Amino acid sequence: MKKILTCVGTRPNFIKITRLGKLFAEHNDIEFKVLHTGQHFDANMSEIFFNQLGISKPDYFFNLTTGISQLSVIAEIIHKAEQVILEYKPDLVMVPGDVNSSLACALVASRHNIPVAHIESGLRSFDKTMPEEVNRILIDDMADLFFVTEESGTKHLLSEGKDKNKIVFTGNTMIDSLVSFMPNIEASGIKEKLGVESGEYILLTFHRPGNVDDPESLSDLVDVLNVIATYKKAVFPIHPRTVKNLEKFGLDSKLSTNIILTGPQGYIEFLSLIKGAWCVITDSGGVQEETTFLQVPCITIRPNTERPVTVDLGSNTMADNSVGTITRILDQIKSGNYKKGEIPPLWDGKSSERIVEACLNYLA
Ligand code: UDP
Repeated sequence: MKKILTCVGTRPNFIKITRLGKLFAEHNDIEFKVLHTGQHFDANMSEIFFNQLGISKPDYFFNLTTGISQLSVIAEIIHKAEQVILEYKPDLVMVPGDVNSSLACALVASRHNIPVAHIESGLRSFDKTMPEEVNRILIDDMADLFFVTEESGTKHLLSEGKDKNKIVFTGNTMIDSLVSFMPNIEASGIKEKLGVESGEYILLTFHRPGNVDDPESLSDLVDVLNVIATYKKAVFPIHPRTVKNLEKFGLDSKLSTNIILTGPQGYIEFLSLIKGAWCVITDSGGVQEETTFLQVPCITIRPNTERPVTVDLGSNTMADNSVGTITRILDQIKSGNYKKGEIPPLWDGKSSERIVEACLNYLA
């Protein structure tokens, strides 16, 4: 019996491992356990994903107590994950994405000479002011198996000198969840609940520190959102970090009344909102990929993206947070001149199968 420990901590992580648990369960010679670091712990950022996606209850869960800074959270996860890893002695530790939990758990595994598999490996924004970029580089430095979602990942890993035999172009596990839950997404009922119709609203999501942590940037963003809301009604499921900062900087009352504010949505509801949107405006990593798959126009307000395939092939366009840039793109969509985009290679709903096969070969 070989033991795989998957370490997750945040909303996008849960979505990325959903199919893996189900597929590994079909192999009697593999024990697949889930460690949830507790980095996201609110019911609407964590529990709802386990329930909706049918992920089995985490085998290990941490109640994090520090939370004063990102580094103190990383330190606490390292401390707690080390106890689990020493006790459980996995043969492989698998971490998705680029969040602090993934970095902390990869480091513990690496220090104890346990191989690390990285899901969504090789993505690079080349912007080290983003904590996620530093996390990605460090995780890939420690990884022994690299699961790549888009061709840019392979290119970066090879240019960093990684062994090409350990790089597996698997496609995107986030799209696996989307494909397998499509019937539920179609039937969600969220648009009726919010009183919006398909093709008649703009969906907004923002939570990156570069957009929401600084009062001036957040105030500029609010101005841009108010212009966006003159095109169509907007739906804004607000991330807890963004709510906190809108309130802290006294900006919450400045948002247009044409913006419907909701709390974070469950996976099924949110994907249904993406699917029906006239356009999505975001700074999320995963949402750039989901809009590309669903061929919904997406504007990403960030200086760069680590997911270039969504721009080169997909329906995504990068933008600064100026009214001029955003209205130029919105006018293209309005006049029917916006690109439709293509679905990137291997985003076919079967990436988790490829990961399982690669893990079985590696552990054989
Ligand atoms: N998401 C969700 N509910 C929301 C907002 C986002 O289920 O209210 C999903 C979204 O569809 C995607 C993931 O959360 O699958 C992206 O997470 P987030 O934007 O928090 O993280 P990032 O991808 O930027 O790391």
